[in-house]
Amino acid sequence: MQSDLLQEINTQAWGLPAVKLSILRLDLLSHLGAGNKLFKLKYNLQQAKEEGRQLLLSFGGAWSNHIHALAALGHSEGFKTLGIIRGEPAHGLTPMLEDARAWGMEIHFVDRGEYRLRHDEEYWRQLRQRFGDCYVIPEGASNDLGASGCGEIINLLQSPNIDYQVLVTACGTGSTLAGLIGAAPKDKKLIGVAVLKGLREMEVSVADTAKSLGGGNGCDWTINHNYHHGGYAKVSEQLKTFILSFEKRHKIPLEPIYTGKLMYAVFDMIAKSEFNAGQHIIAVHSGGLQGRRGFDW
Ligand SMILES: *Cc1c(COP(=O)(O)O)cnc(C)c1O
Repeated sequence: MQSDLLQEINTQAWGLPAVKLSILRLDLLSHLGAGNKLFKLKYNLQQAKEEGRQLLLSFGGAWSNHIHALAALGHSEGFKTLGIIRGEPAHGLTPMLEDARAWGMEIHFVDRGEYRLRHDEEYWRQLRQRFGDCYVIPEGASNDLGASGCGEIINLLQSPNIDYQVLVTACGTGSTLAGLIGAAPKDKKLIGVAVLKGLREMEVSVADTAKSLGGGNGCDWTINHNYHHGGYAKVSEQLKTFILSFEKRHKIPLEPIYTGKLMYAVFDMIAKSEFNAGQHIIAVHSGGLQGRRGFDW
């Protein structure tokens, strides 16, 4: 792997117990800081190509990392892209949507009521009628193709073989975690940090997806629900303070929606001695840095 993708973090500088902690910098894989969405889109785009589709359609909010990555990747791979965006045109374009439009994405705003239909097959049929023969990618690319692409994140740690025991990643839908579980060697422990509040059914969908990818029977995994800081996109004062000091000390950018909550959780778990001495813990920096622009800190 590119040797600079894995960076060791000195936890003793924070007065924490000495453990070996590294960050897997998926944000460095593209100059856009796109991270896990590159993996989630890989096989979805491949499938669209095999089916000979030229238009990719997907769903997201006005700051969606998924829509941002879809517009960028679609553009570089010669697809047309269309984003069904929850929101009002009157609110203007966020920097995320401005980027997406610059990459040629057509933006179609829908209200909350219509956005709620985004998982509905009948709605997808209507979208195809309206916009033409498009390949529909679910929100977040959180389908089996997306999860199986995330399994390839494990490959980054395999040649050359990195010695590690625990892999920690932020969970929105949990499909990235499911892909990791599906691909990880059985002796690894995987921990997901939920960024949404009270999504207890996530364990079931993660287990199902990992199983359908042919894995998940071996390695030990769990989802920690204690670090959502009030819910999706909610930022506590402690979280903000943590992110700003982390960025200053380690010169690694985080954003508050996913990677900030992840690192906060990892540091807190280290402080509470929840890891065994001598373990090498790897936290996955899943990218999303375009969304940092939404926070005026
Ligand atoms: C989408 C996203 C996640 C969550 O991925 P899931 O597969 O939905 O759990 C984590 N981190 C970042 C930066 C993301 O953009």
